[in-house]
Amino acid sequence: MSNFRFKALEIAQNRQAMQVAAPTERVGDFFGSYTFNNEVMRTLLSPEAYLKVTEAINTNGQIDRGIADEVASAMKSWATSKGATHYTHWFQPLTGETAEKHDAFFDITFDGKAVEKFKGSALVQQEPDASSFPNGGLRNTFEARGYTGWDPSSPAFLMDNGAGGKTLCIPSVFISYTGEALDYKTPLLKALNALDKAATAVCQYFDRNITKVTPTLGPEQEYFVVDRALFYARPDLVLAGRTLFGHAPARGQQLEDHYFGSIPPRVNAFMVDFEFESMKLGMPVRTRHNEVAPGQFEVAPTFEEVNLAVDHNALLMDLMEKIAEKHNLKVLFHEKPFAGVNGSGKHNNWSMGTNTGVNLLAPSTKPKESLRFLTFLVNVVKAVHDNADLLRASIASAGNEHRLGANEAPPAIVSIFLGEALTQALNDLETKSEVTVNKGDNVYYKLGLNRIPSLMRDNTDRNRTSPFAFTGNKFEFRAVGSSANSASTMTVLNAIVADQLNKFKFDLDARLAKGEKKELAIVDILKEYYANSKRILFEGNGYSDEWVEEAARRGLSNIKSSPDALGIFVQPESLALFERTGIMNHAEVESRYEIELEKYIKNVQIESRVMGDLAMNHVVSTALKYQNKLAETARNLVELGMTAEAEPIKDILREISTRVMVIKKGVEAMIESRKKANNVLDTGERAKLYATEVKDHFDLIRYEVDKLEEVVDDEDWPLVKYRELLFVK
Ligand code: ADP
Ligand code: MG
Repeated sequence: MSNFRFKALEIAQNRQAMQVAAPTERVGDFFGSYTFNNEVMRTLLSPEAYLKVTEAINTNGQIDRGIADEVASAMKSWATSKGATHYTHWFQPLTGETAEKHDAFFDITFDGKAVEKFKGSALVQQEPDASSFPNGGLRNTFEARGYTGWDPSSPAFLMDNGAGGKTLCIPSVFISYTGEALDYKTPLLKALNALDKAATAVCQYFDRNITKVTPTLGPEQEYFVVDRALFYARPDLVLAGRTLFGHAPARGQQLEDHYFGSIPPRVNAFMVDFEFESMKLGMPVRTRHNEVAPGQFEVAPTFEEVNLAVDHNALLMDLMEKIAEKHNLKVLFHEKPFAGVNGSGKHNNWSMGTNTGVNLLAPSTKPKESLRFLTFLVNVVKAVHDNADLLRASIASAGNEHRLGANEAPPAIVSIFLGEALTQALNDLETKSEVTVNKGDNVYYKLGLNRIPSLMRDNTDRNRTSPFAFTGNKFEFRAVGSSANSASTMTVLNAIVADQLNKFKFDLDARLAKGEKKELAIVDILKEYYANSKRILFEGNGYSDEWVEEAARRGLSNIKSSPDALGIFVQPESLALFERTGIMNHAEVESRYEIELEKYIKNVQIESRVMGDLAMNHVVSTALKYQNKLAETARNLVELGMTAEAEPIKDILREISTRVMVIKKGVEAMIESRKKANNVLDTGERAKLYATEVKDHFDLIRYEVDKLEEVVDDEDWPLVKYRELLFVK
């Protein structure tokens, strides 16, 4: 049999779980051993340099050249002692991949001497020849220089490049020559800064000791794993990251027996391996388990400061892809690699912590802290309510479109789940009639703030269908796509909360200036905020049709298409918000919008091309061959006088002919739609055409192809089937 599918299957079936050397030391002995961390800096740097660097880390400040030289030299000797030969500024351009350009630590002079090449200047700033990274019109080709700059708040690390050597990776921002952000990290850092300022100012009403607020993120990463040989036997997986065809297997996730079941041995070995490597890189991966769908898994780290967590998630994804190769596996980060099977998300667990060790979203047993908790909670609710569309925009992508708004969820409607106890507490607060407080009365008790924590204590209810759920001491934004860089959504979330907290401070100060009592003024404002935003709260089944109708009645948006969602970024209110919070200027937002649209178009375009090719030269050609076989059989039967017996075969022949015809017409029409779209100059309009006219053909073509998969002889079918792909050993 020359069929590629069977060759791949044979290879996959013969593979065994790889032996992995599990760590023999205790975690503490190797955790972070590949990072230029605090401990290493304290040992290698002079006290003065160490202080300057930690200060820069804590204040997002700059480092002067003298110190930079010392740090660079320490970094270099640390890295080379661990086997590093090269260094690179490691950054996150808007392509969605991480980028690196390796330079050797040494150079050879004309007379053959090796000289040191890593100076402070190279640590602090680099000019990668980066003219081909997307910039959405920010740089023209004459001024194609962008530069990368060291971000000291994320520790440098060593990346094994597999061939023996290691590379020192220096987390960096990527900025145009004229100072505009060209990456994910730059606006994120600004948003985190804005949140720190706004939240700290609000904390000051409650506790003078709070001088810094750090947003935290724990991204739970879902992914699929397939055998490497099978992956390469599916051109759609290779080129588009998802299967464009494939009949659902007889046994899918109906039984939900995969969830939390035992992990297949090959995958388990892979997990042990990448977790060990992650730990060395200082990434606190903690949880591993099977997900709902067969072949689907999750890895979750312990939460960290947002910028670090985002870097770590990007690095983890890179690492997983590399380590998977070793195990002859492929990781699929696509949001929907298999139709009819659960999709993958990246649940962004988010909260805010203070320098005094308080989680601002943790309910407290102390009445005074309860008011602080409610202040932050209600402000987050209002921020999400007022900016639901912008939050939706922050998770828009071609891949995530298959989850949001498709018949599998979470839906494209942004809603918040708070749980029964908390909703009750807020309703109580809202309906509480005027409270009068005499001198000396305990205002917190009068306000009922002593009761909230006891209600909250065993709040364990979970709603897995809510896109934005409160889970006891944090919010979990579940609608983020598995392949996304969390920076995009974290920039928006922290920006809108910062903006809202600024408004709160403004409202409160106005009341205080009028001589109102602080606690009463705060409660009054929270009541008003809550009343104005509670329509976004939803406790029921977010995946149900009733919710879609109910949300429409409530006037909540349900933006299904990515181009429409992305359009929110450039609406005047959004531009104004990014500007007043100091996160991005108009040009930066607009360029980002262009880039995201282009990415969307390219993705759908590639899918459409691959679909056309596969449909015609894999599927249709195979069907026609099979038809020939059938025709011959039918002819033979007729020759033998078995006319009646030939009839069912003729039926199959007719079915195949009809389907082939529909597919051929569908592919032709799709190509026409693509041509039409490609002739449209405006990126937004072009993206919309791809989202509608081009994509509209996908389901139709797919339907016929999947039907053919059921008829055509299994031995002839060229594409690895779902049942073969999904169940890894
Ligand atoms: P569950 O599995 O029930 O969702 P976990 O406690 O395992 O709850 O948390 C899931 C994720 O949330 C983990 O990545 C965890 O680190 C993260 N997380 C927990 N607390 C916080 C917090 N305060 N801020 C941000 N993320 C958090
Ligand atoms: Mg969770």
